[in-house]
Amino acid sequence: MSLTTTLSSPNLLTLPHLSSHAPHRTSSFPMAAIIRRHLNHIRRRSLAIAAAVRQQDTTLWTPTPLADVKPAADQISPPEDYQSVLIFATGSGISPIRSLIESGFSADKRSDVRLFYGARNLQRMAYQDRLKSWESNSLIKVKLLHQQLTVKGSDPTALQKLVGMYISCDAPSHALATLSLLPPSPSSVFWWNSLIRRAVRLRLLEHALELYNRMQSFGWRPDGYTFPFVLKACGELPSFRRGASLHGNVCILGYENNVFVGNALVAMYGRCGDLECARQVFDEMLQTMIADVISWNSIVAAYMQSGDPKKAMQMFYRMNGLCPDAVSLVNILPAFASARASLQGKEAHAYAVTTQLIQDLFVGNAIVDMYAKCGLMDDAQKVFERMEVKDVVSWNAMVTGHSQTGRFEDALGLFEKMRGEKVELNVVTWSAVIAGYAQRGHGYESLDVFRQMLVSGSEPNVVTLVSLLSGCACAGTLLQGKEIHCYAIKQILNINKNDSGDEQMVINSLIDMYAKCKEDGLARKIFDHVAPASRNVVTWTVMIGGYSQLGEANDALELFSQMLKQNKPTKPNAFTISCALMACAHLAALRLGRQIHGYVLRNRCEKSDVLFVDNCLIDMYVKSGDVDVARVVFNNMNQTNVVSWTSLLTGYGMHGRGTEALDLFNGMRKAGLPIDGVTFVVVLYACSHSGLVDKGVEYFETMTREFGIVPGVEHYACMVDLLGRAGQLDKAMEIIKQMPMEPSPIVWVALLGSCRVHTNVELGEYASSKLLELGCENDGTYTLLSNIYADAKRWKDVDRIRFLMKDTGIRKRPGCSWVQGKTGTATFYVGDKTHPLSKEIYNLLGDLIYQIKALGYVPDTNFALHDVDDEEKGDFLVEHSEKLALAYGILTTAPGVPIRITKNLRVCGDCHVAITYISNIIDHEIILRDSSRFHHFKNGYCSCKGYW
Ligand SMILES: [Zn+2]
Ligand SMILES: [Zn+2]
Repeated sequence: MSLTTTLSSPNLLTLPHLSSHAPHRTSSFPMAAIIRRHLNHIRRRSLAIAAAVRQQDTTLWTPTPLADVKPAADQISPPEDYQSVLIFATGSGISPIRSLIESGFSADKRSDVRLFYGARNLQRMAYQDRLKSWESNSLIKVKLLHQQLTVKGSDPTALQKLVGMYISCDAPSHALATLSLLPPSPSSVFWWNSLIRRAVRLRLLEHALELYNRMQSFGWRPDGYTFPFVLKACGELPSFRRGASLHGNVCILGYENNVFVGNALVAMYGRCGDLECARQVFDEMLQTMIADVISWNSIVAAYMQSGDPKKAMQMFYRMNGLCPDAVSLVNILPAFASARASLQGKEAHAYAVTTQLIQDLFVGNAIVDMYAKCGLMDDAQKVFERMEVKDVVSWNAMVTGHSQTGRFEDALGLFEKMRGEKVELNVVTWSAVIAGYAQRGHGYESLDVFRQMLVSGSEPNVVTLVSLLSGCACAGTLLQGKEIHCYAIKQILNINKNDSGDEQMVINSLIDMYAKCKEDGLARKIFDHVAPASRNVVTWTVMIGGYSQLGEANDALELFSQMLKQNKPTKPNAFTISCALMACAHLAALRLGRQIHGYVLRNRCEKSDVLFVDNCLIDMYVKSGDVDVARVVFNNMNQTNVVSWTSLLTGYGMHGRGTEALDLFNGMRKAGLPIDGVTFVVVLYACSHSGLVDKGVEYFETMTREFGIVPGVEHYACMVDLLGRAGQLDKAMEIIKQMPMEPSPIVWVALLGSCRVHTNVELGEYASSKLLELGCENDGTYTLLSNIYADAKRWKDVDRIRFLMKDTGIRKRPGCSWVQGKTGTATFYVGDKTHPLSKEIYNLLGDLIYQIKALGYVPDTNFALHDVDDEEKGDFLVEHSEKLALAYGILTTAPGVPIRITKNLRVCGDCHVAITYISNIIDHEIILRDSSRFHHFKNGYCSCKGYW
């Protein structure tokens, strides 16, 4: 550390020279108002210095030789203007002004910044060079003086003066060396305090504490001015252990009733994260009636730092009798913002206006930020426009606010304006714009802004990279994502100075990006690379969520259970649970879903997450085949929203319980919930899957007439499905002809499906030709068509389709069914003989088929293609995957317990008939989820009533 570091630091060199301005033309200075407010402090300090000079009191805070102060004292008192302070400073060299600023503003860092900020915007003079020469000359002079004193033989008074001179020349090591020659005395503690304060100011925190220890080892006793600085060092490190031991020293030396020490203790405990101790010290201060505004500010700040804005607000409102100052407002406004307490925020705004505190740049910024975070962008705009002085923070608050409230155009406009007005853009500005593009899924644009940022020389930080990666994730731009990954490796990751939490944030975003770009293998590699102890809840959630969204539900659930099984389990949050429930819904893994429900009940989640998690539970139960439990969850909810109602409504639709669906829809109307196009898709779907043709037609008309919703293509598809299933194929065709838009593939698939049920070859051929026109050549289309031909016994056409499929290289997806057992999931393909219980399964199945044939079942070979590949023959009906799954279910399920089967394709017609018969002779309800709906088989009857 060079002795003259601070001499060349810009803060001190930017002091203005004001003598060229008339004292009262303050309006010509944009910063005049700000500096004037701080004049009070400066003047008070100067007056104190003056008084001290008169009394010959050397224990005064200022390290400046008294001779230097004198002109200050004389000049400062009569002219009531800040300019004289600065004129005096410029006239008499840097030491007095530095000591004024240092001692007057050390309690409040912001004041310094404000002063220097003001100074920076004023005219700069060639004064800097003069200062430098003065300083260097002076150090040489002091050294010469020191030499003379050493030769002559020095006395303690002379040495003390020398220490002061060294400190004022910013030569701390000389000062320290001289100081250690002095005998300890209470009056010279002052010099130690100066050195410690200097170290803290330069953030040499360990050094400050070392000085404190050295001071004691040399026999000095710390005083009331020592503790605030060393405590500040402990808070900023942070070091609770040393802070607490200092607290012990404070008590031993009897400074616990010193308000400065008390405030410093509150702040130190707050920064070390021990709120209980902070609160205890604060309460003691209240009891002894020494608490002042700063004490209240410290405790409010402590609560804010610990992330408890509610408690901070409570404390703020308890400080009656004391007037909040600028710092109080700057502390509390973010609390209002995070609690979205815009009313309280407005009160604070009003208070700031009446007390003129609004003119403070920091207060102004905090108010703009508060309005922006509460989403009141118009109010934020007004305050912003009226601010006399703005800095980059003010602009950033607006840009970020616009970007986060979705007013992205405004954010961009402001960003351009900032560039136009040459406001210095910082990393926050750039990150806000990048995040804005990312949130809209404009990955490429966000990358473009990032490049501009790099060109401008601004250093990206963790937030920038996280925003950028989310942009790549939204847009699915893998290549760009990889580029960022490389950049992160080079610039951010594996660099020692990093906070490990920051690093983990970037890694989490990388996992998320790779998963969203469908590279779950790469995502998993990064995940596995993170040491288990470093994985946080977000790390787990992005990986589990990535699997869930890619349909890799087994992997998702596997990872979820691994997460809970760790030695030190990471507690899942609402998002982790929702991802796991999504995976359960995908697999219809009811058993696991129930376990997660149990976990949710045992570990009540945050109040704000309850609704979200309950909605996920409804969705899981509905899709796993237990719509009644979904209803129970729904009924027990304290609060529901449109998602809860729609999920349950969808459930009733999928399970063919149309009447209950319509009851629920009427309930929704009565509850005054917003009803939109999506709601009607669900209602029409429910009608079509329950055969409620008239009701469906009625609601289709109501939708336009009463709700003014213009039917979209999904609504028409539902209507085609509804009429087609009911055999009214002509009417379905009518609807298609009436459509104001081009029918999309889903409309033709609906028609084709209906033609299959009602064996209408002509219309089926027409629908499939339309599908081929639209480029929808897939196995589903061909399978449906070939089944129509098979139904109509047009075997040649069946063969033609088979050849066509072979020619175009389209293979039928193999049918696959799975059933949930006690020990896990058993999966079966057609003709599957790999299961250990295979022999028993086939024996049971043969037995069942034999029994139901006696009841009148006739195998329907027309469905052969539906589930069998080309090579397989029609007599393998018995080996269909859903039948195998059923037999396994019967073998492993306790009597009376429902058997739950899930199939990846639609259930085949023959299996549907066979299972209906089997439900007559076994003691289980059979719940089968196929790719389009649920079938509940019981007592020789299926809930779909043939509408599948
Ligand atoms: Zn079958
Ligand atoms: Zn059915």
